[in-house]
Amino acid sequence: MTEREFSRILGWPGYKVYRHEIDEAKRTLRLWVRRDRKNKLLICGNCGGRGHRVEEVRERELRHLPCMKYQTWLNVEYYRVKCPKCGLRTERMDEMAGKSPFSKDLEDDVGLACESAPARQVARRFQLAASTVRAIDLRYLERWSKSRNRPVVKQLGVDEIYLGKRQKFLTVVSDLATAEPLWFGPERKEATLDEFFARQLSAMQRGRIQAACVDMWEPFTKSILKWVPTCKIVFDKFHVMQHANQAVDEVRRAEFYRKGGQKRGFIKGKRWLLLTRWFNLDNDKRQMLNELFRHNRKMMKAYLLKESLDRLWTYKYEGAARRYLNRWIDQLKWQRLKPFEKLARMLLRHEEGLLNYCRMKVPFGVVEAVNGNIKALLRRGRGYRNLRYLLLKAQQMAASKTEFVTMKKVA
Ligand SMILES: [Zn+2]
Repeated sequence: MTEREFSRILGWPGYKVYRHEIDEAKRTLRLWVRRDRKNKLLICGNCGGRGHRVEEVRERELRHLPCMKYQTWLNVEYYRVKCPKCGLRTERMDEMAGKSPFSKDLEDDVGLACESAPARQVARRFQLAASTVRAIDLRYLERWSKSRNRPVVKQLGVDEIYLGKRQKFLTVVSDLATAEPLWFGPERKEATLDEFFARQLSAMQRGRIQAACVDMWEPFTKSILKWVPTCKIVFDKFHVMQHANQAVDEVRRAEFYRKGGQKRGFIKGKRWLLLTRWFNLDNDKRQMLNELFRHNRKMMKAYLLKESLDRLWTYKYEGAARRYLNRWIDQLKWQRLKPFEKLARMLLRHEEGLLNYCRMKVPFGVVEAVNGNIKALLRRGRGYRNLRYLLLKAQQMAASKTEFVTMKKVA
């Protein structure tokens, strides 16, 4: 092949191959690349300003996409230019990925492969170290992130993920409209979220936030209202129902220890049934529960209380929702269901945030979906000690999913 043909195969506009070397024993192909004579536009790598004088010629070795069975290396000539604003700088060259020892074409291929496979697998395919693949993927994602338009955020979701004994909690802020995580912060303190509002959003962006969907974790609510006083705090139904499930479970345990002998048998092994919604149970399972309820009125009451709490979110009008909540709490009188009395006190303390759902609708379950995706990423691959990498990865996951959904809608 001639240099001319190699230039065409390389396909870098404005560049040509002026020398090549094929090593059959090592199965490598090496191409020397430089600017075309016609391509004279030089751009400062720092400020993007055009038209500078060449001060210095340099060469860099880049690993490129393989050419059939040959590993390909490029020796690329580039310039140091004198910029009136920045002084002596390296020219901007889109085919190089910054200071990376890989060409941008190769980095894009590795990044694309990482979208659907774990780093270790991609590493084997490209014959690179897994840590190198992760570093390439991170740069690829940063470029992707830079090129995107960001929609205005109107509704926030704030939640935490438990990472384990050592790292404890991770605070996750997400956009409820796109189901995309916006920011991660270590721990789950008021100061954690303060950091998000102070560093990530401008005053104007903060002003556009209308609602936040959170769990009943005081520090988050405090931080939100401090930074966006007009924001409507809406407590996530999912979390409230989790508390109700916990109350059912506490009643179940207390009943199990209170009852002896044969009656214990009715309660044993029913935990999962009691924590499942009635409409999700088939007839057999419903009968099993009914049998338990015939022998244990307390369990029945607890289960019905949990199931009926759900209705709180079906009301359109605040007054009606408030009446329903009060009626629900009234039912607890004389029942001696301590865990539910505790829950009732909690609900009353957070009444405004519960009723806010009548004033401002937010999509429930988004926060949980975002958390689920992050947990799936954490399970799938190690090497997410870098939070920035984890965030970009989760954002990419969310973005590709929405693209998928819109594509389906069109089809
Ligand atoms: Zn410059």
